Amino acid sequence: MTSKPPILPTGQPATKRRILTGDTPTGRLHLGHFVGSLENRIRLQGEYDCYFLLANMHAFTTRAERFADIRQDTIEIVKDWLAAGIDPGRSTIVLQTEVPAIAELSWFFAMLVPFNRVMRNPTLKTEIESKGLGDSYSFGFPMYAVGQCADILAFRPDLVPVGVDQVAHIEMCREIARRFNQVYCAVDTHAEDQRHESLGGVFPIPAALVGRVGRLVGTDGKQKMSKSLDNAIFLSDTPKQVKKKIGAMYPGQTRDPDQPGDPDINPVFDYADIFVKDQAFVADLRERYRKGDNLGDGHIKAYVIEAVNELLDPIRERRARFEGPGGDDTVIDIIRAGTRRANAVAEETLAMAKERMGLNFGARAEMLGTER
Ligand code: ATP
Ligand code: MG
Repeated sequence: MTSKPPILPTGQPATKRRILTGDTPTGRLHLGHFVGSLENRIRLQGEYDCYFLLANMHAFTTRAERFADIRQDTIEIVKDWLAAGIDPGRSTIVLQTEVPAIAELSWFFAMLVPFNRVMRNPTLKTEIESKGLGDSYSFGFPMYAVGQCADILAFRPDLVPVGVDQVAHIEMCREIARRFNQVYCAVDTHAEDQRHESLGGVFPIPAALVGRVGRLVGTDGKQKMSKSLDNAIFLSDTPKQVKKKIGAMYPGQTRDPDQPGDPDINPVFDYADIFVKDQAFVADLRERYRKGDNLGDGHIKAYVIEAVNELLDPIRERRARFEGPGGDDTVIDIIRAGTRRANAVAEETLAMAKERMGLNFGARAEMLGTER
């Protein structure tokens, strides 16, 4: 029983393994996205058949009334992707709300996971707290965690590049995939994960791929950098904004340049470790900081500001191409073309799933009355 088509809708041979990941349009992309996931996506887009999802439905779970912002953020995120190096000629950009198979799979998957299992998810708990959702979050909010399993599994990928905060979600996705395969495809409960598809399961058991920095701290030095927490350095920030944000960071302690300090509690050093290329130089700075060797916090910040701007300069340059008149329309064309390709894969997955569930009453086009 084969589960993959000979040629994928992107024109890639079926032997090419797939990646699915994405971002929620709740704001622009920041350095955390870059080191947590974007770098891996860019690196792997030649090797894998890649699908990058705009999770715009999920943006509605926390800001349903801000629909105009969600629309613009969707476009801005694509600009960030393109600027960072995502190539729409090689990778497929997918708009979640135009892939109906995802919404349908979400329902079926919601029946394969206990309610309490969803609510125990540590990422959801942290988000409820850090986003101040209290006890008035929408019914749809926790549903996004199940929806995300459908986002992923609709594309039957092998790998999901994410930051650390998403690993708990991927674990739930893996559980749901196993359960589907066991309940509807007679895959043995003891089967190894990598054998599920060859044993007739519809879904592979996808693995999370965490980037070189799984959790970049925000400029507040405490919470994870997050687009909805006002602690982010955006890929689209100007050099002046970068200078201002890093310049205002609290170095974790109060000290004079000639007083010994602790670099390990200073978040500016975290950034130095991640963004300054010359690590021997950073090690030397740490040493001098520890000794109180006339090294002010402003100095370290200046090195970090320079390194971050060096990383962002080419991204800014590429982004500028989409910022003029017609830029949004170009992006919308890319979204349309990608989503069309994505629907071919997602519809195929849904048809496979429905067939195993005894829901193959008729072809989709026949049921929708859209057959030619
Ligand atoms: P929101 O505040 O709306 O939740 P976010 O900043 O957390 O936004 P998401 O769209 O939820 O961004 O996450 C997109 C991807 O980026 C996920 O894979 C997530 O793990 C990763 N990511 C987000 N923030 C960071 C971070 N600070 N460090 C590393 N990876 C991150
Ligand atoms: Mg998030």
